[in-house]
Amino acid sequence: MSQPLVRNAREIARWDAQADVVIAGFGAAGATAAIEARAAGADVIVVERAGAGGGSAANSGGVIYLGGGTPTQKACGFEDTPEEMFKYLMAACGPSPDEGLVSAYCDGSLEHYAWLVDRGIRFRPRFAAAELGADECPGLVYSGTENAWPFNEIARPAPRGHYSADQGLASGGVLMQTLTQAAMKAGAAVHANTRCLALVVESDGRICGVVVRAAGEQSAVRARGGVILTTGGFISNREMLARHAPWLLPCTNVVGIEGDDGGGLMMGQAAGGVLCRMDAADISLPIYPPLQLRKGILINRHGQRFINEDAYMGRLGEFALLHQQGRVFLVVDDAIFARPEYLEADIAAVGETIAELEADLPLPSGALQATLSFYNEHAAKGRDPLFRKKAEYLAPLAQPPLAALDLSVDVVPYGVLTLGGLQIDTAGAVLDRDGDPIPGLYAAGRTTSGVCKGGYSSGLSIGDSTFFGRRAGRSAAARAIREREARPG
Ligand SMILES: Cc1cc2nc3c(=O)[nH]c(=O)nc-3n(C[C@H](O)[C@H](O)[C@H](O)COP(=O)(O)OP(=O)(O)OC[C@H]3O[C@@H](n4cnc5c(N)ncnc54)[C@H](O)[C@@H]3O)c2cc1C
Repeated sequence: MSQPLVRNAREIARWDAQADVVIAGFGAAGATAAIEARAAGADVIVVERAGAGGGSAANSGGVIYLGGGTPTQKACGFEDTPEEMFKYLMAACGPSPDEGLVSAYCDGSLEHYAWLVDRGIRFRPRFAAAELGADECPGLVYSGTENAWPFNEIARPAPRGHYSADQGLASGGVLMQTLTQAAMKAGAAVHANTRCLALVVESDGRICGVVVRAAGEQSAVRARGGVILTTGGFISNREMLARHAPWLLPCTNVVGIEGDDGGGLMMGQAAGGVLCRMDAADISLPIYPPLQLRKGILINRHGQRFINEDAYMGRLGEFALLHQQGRVFLVVDDAIFARPEYLEADIAAVGETIAELEADLPLPSGALQATLSFYNEHAAKGRDPLFRKKAEYLAPLAQPPLAALDLSVDVVPYGVLTLGGLQIDTAGAVLDRDGDPIPGLYAAGRTTSGVCKGGYSSGLSIGDSTFFGRRAGRSAAARAIREREARPG
């Protein structure tokens, strides 16, 4: 029988532990929430189902999306403002991103950068033209589609992908070691190998604790100020994917860990929280590195282009999977031929002429010939009238043999990360269906629907997890302190 996700406080015979703030999950959002709650004067218990903290963030590339004119951006010679960052994110993180969350994130980005640096995170002041394929820490990169169409016409391009390492290979491991240690040093009590099973609710609707399981035993932990859910997303829960975003099921590169089982989302929902944009995901199709492959053309099953190939891999994947049913080919000529470094792509066809290539592909007769003849004619003049790919990636595909790589979703591993979750306000409070905060319940990171409501740029997940994790920590602590001061005696 499945466990209840919400328990009534009356059923709790004994509180086995208590703290002002109880945090479920010790990853990017949980660690930052713990640091800030401690700094605000709250005592904190963190329950973490794994043997140690770090979460998915510890396995990550450690890129954090920061902007508005950070010292790293300035040192690399880039101008940026919170307004330009806002323009980009509102256009790219949609459709219809949450203006309040995006605005708070952009306005607070410089302060967040400084806070991370104060906690010991180092950012290398070196700009790298390509995000991927570097054998050492690239420093600062364009980690989305800032510098390609259509967004380079909407906002002034600025690289905002900050690698959180100053030497060697970039690594989320270093980031999370730094943040989890900072949380423990600040005095957060971490209960590892302890899984949060349910929220405990008072009769008036306030969330006042959690039920956990450790070593097969259940116990109850009281939260005087609030509970913060930071248990990651639901990419590892096939049933939830089938219900909310079945088109993600064929994507085999799961960007997450076993803990991304949707548990926090379900607990929050059972307590009255609203789930938002559960279909949103980062879907990545890394056709490059090497960068020369941006000079190829991506075509759909009608033999037509559908995007500028210099867009970010998350945009390429989204367009390929959601708009083209995940059935796409990358057409290249001998001058640029290579296999994408991160995809084991099959060669679907080779031909000395376009007609020969087309004959071996499942395309309507003449379609690829029409596409290539139009593309080559304009590429020779450094133009892409359809999708405005940048001139540096434009050259006629004319040197035989031509080849088509099969980049269909059932052939190569598209990467997926879920972006839907509990709806929060800018303070990290979980909202109910009327848009009101649920007293005592907070959340951050992939348990929530954060800054991205679709379109993704690398670094935004750790970015909004750490940013709103901090806010949730401060809010829960402030509530605990208010309650403490209001108590008689
Ligand atoms: C290979 C890879 C590369 C990536 N690269 C980047 C990148 O460069 N930049 C970026 O922004 N994002 C990146 N991501 C995504 C990013 O790491 C995550 O989306 C982000 O860490 C989410 O933060 P979080 O705090 O919500 O979850 P996590 O950091 O995963 O933390 C959640 C924690 O909760 C724990 N937990 C789960 N359920 C329970 C429970 N019931 N009770 C108690 N504990 C529980 C988990 O064990 C985990 O420790 C990458 C991910 C992967 C896998």
